Amino acid sequence: MALHLRGTVLPHDTPRDLWILGDRITFDRPSVEAETVADGGYLLPGLVDVHTHPGSPSGEEPVFDPGAFAEQIAEHRDAGTTALRFPGLLGEIPDGLREAPDAPRMVTAGRWLAWAGLSRSADFHTVTDDLVAAAVAEAKAHDGWCKLMGDWDFEADPVPYDLLRAVTDAVHAAGGRVAAHCQSAQGVLNAARAGIDSIEHGMGMPEECVELMAGHGTVYVPTLTAFARSAPRIKDNPRGHLWHEGHRIMIRRVREAHDAGVTVLAGTDSAPFGNVATEVEHLIAAGLPADVAVGAASWAARDFLGLPGLVEGGLADVTVYDADPRREPGVLRHPRRMVLRGRVVR
Ligand SMILES: [Zn+2]
Repeated sequence: MALHLRGTVLPHDTPRDLWILGDRITFDRPSVEAETVADGGYLLPGLVDVHTHPGSPSGEEPVFDPGAFAEQIAEHRDAGTTALRFPGLLGEIPDGLREAPDAPRMVTAGRWLAWAGLSRSADFHTVTDDLVAAAVAEAKAHDGWCKLMGDWDFEADPVPYDLLRAVTDAVHAAGGRVAAHCQSAQGVLNAARAGIDSIEHGMGMPEECVELMAGHGTVYVPTLTAFARSAPRIKDNPRGHLWHEGHRIMIRRVREAHDAGVTVLAGTDSAPFGNVATEVEHLIAAGLPADVAVGAASWAARDFLGLPGLVEGGLADVTVYDADPRREPGVLRHPRRMVLRGRVVR
């Protein structure tokens, strides 16, 4: 038996019928019987959070607990999230979960790699003297991605440009991609010059980075939700002042990056899980057009991860909403129907 859905398919804004056969989408009526599971509304290929770190029981401490991981990806799924990227994970995806019929599709970059030459590191970092070798190994061992700290203390020296460039060249030569945490002006600039594939956070991003990122095809994942949550806790001392200044700059760069042709994507970074609709609202508040902000948490993110959406032969993930999320982004919190891996899960 096939599944049948009818509604306005985004981003093409076309009312049409689609069918699901196994884990694939088709726009051609199949010869087998089909059950209609949605009639009307707006159809998306589900939500995507490209920056989340499930696995810690509280969402904070540096411990990987398989049970917490399973609960937190279920929270993502219950919010209509069909795909996740983990740019830093303290453990491996637990056996059986990656292909579980009700689990979002997952892309992991393995551990957070921190170059030993940084002035400080955190206890969730994997510190390495040989960042190039570690990055290549991590990308090969996971889903073609590695994650490194481009900096850590935002007042100290970041990873030098030459080293970032060597990492990028080596990982690309091995067929992988690099995500870099950057939260200092020089750290972002080094990453943008080095052609890192995705810059995470980008606090204090210098203006020239926007053109560099556009030229390299670098994606920008600002994780505004996490920064907005931290902002009230950051004190108004000299370091706090620097933090707030970096935060103001990163918000401004979101729109400038989009205008320059950079793909901006939605990531939440920290708990609560299943919260990517909030990131869409922050992206809109930062000046992204609403359709772009919704795409940043859906079809554009799926393209970035290599997961085809609502196209002929695409993967069978669909969420259905009563209202147009481009006009009412809040509706993203309330999927009326959800099909994941070809099965109705809501
Ligand atoms: Zn993160």
